Amino acid sequence: MEKLQEKIMADGKVLSDSVLKVDSFLNHQIDPVLMQAIGEEFASRFSGEGITKILTLESSGIAPAMMTGLVLGVPAVFARKRKSLTLVDRLYTASVHSFTKNETNDISVSRDFIDETDVVLVIDDFLANGQAALGLIDIVEQAGAALGGVGIVIEKGFQEGGAMLRNRGVRVESLAIISSLANGKVEFLEEEKA
Ligand code: 5GP
Repeated sequence: MEKLQEKIMADGKVLSDSVLKVDSFLNHQIDPVLMQAIGEEFASRFSGEGITKILTLESSGIAPAMMTGLVLGVPAVFARKRKSLTLVDRLYTASVHSFTKNETNDISVSRDFIDETDVVLVIDDFLANGQAALGLIDIVEQAGAALGGVGIVIEKGFQEGGAMLRNRGVRVESLAIISSLANGKVEFLEEEKA
């Protein structure tokens, strides 16, 4: 997705050989016009899958998930990372090891919002080692729902998550795939440049 690649080149900050900071349009300040374009792109890529629900992880997945839900006309549900006083029972939970924080947390979703009649599109901001996506897929499986696919805003193609999910037969659509962050420079996979 060209617009996204241009934004990453203009405003992304390479923090190390493996971490990209995109606080100015995705992870802290949010660019609504770009999010709308991202929602339209995910909706068009997954339009044939019969998606009934979007599932993401708070907080950075919420903006792209909501825009995708708006275009597809389906609700967006976000898994919570912290225990909520109002979210006490009837939960699906999964364990997720965070790449950026290097800690393992339980994520949870109320059983009220996903069930066996759903076809779920999992959306997240980044794909690194795939642990967040696996946790969300685990919740889809616990619900007895079908997985329509995984939509990722920025995949770091040099980390193992993309290959691991695709090898499991999961349809993964990434709007930008980074092949390298070496020497402070963002490089994209050739075929994603168009
Ligand atoms: P994974 O679970 O695939 O290893 O990592 C994905 C999760 O870690 C995403 O939900 C995202 O929040 C965070 N993440 C992984 N890599 C990066 C990165 O380079 N930059 C930012 N901002 N977040 C990342």
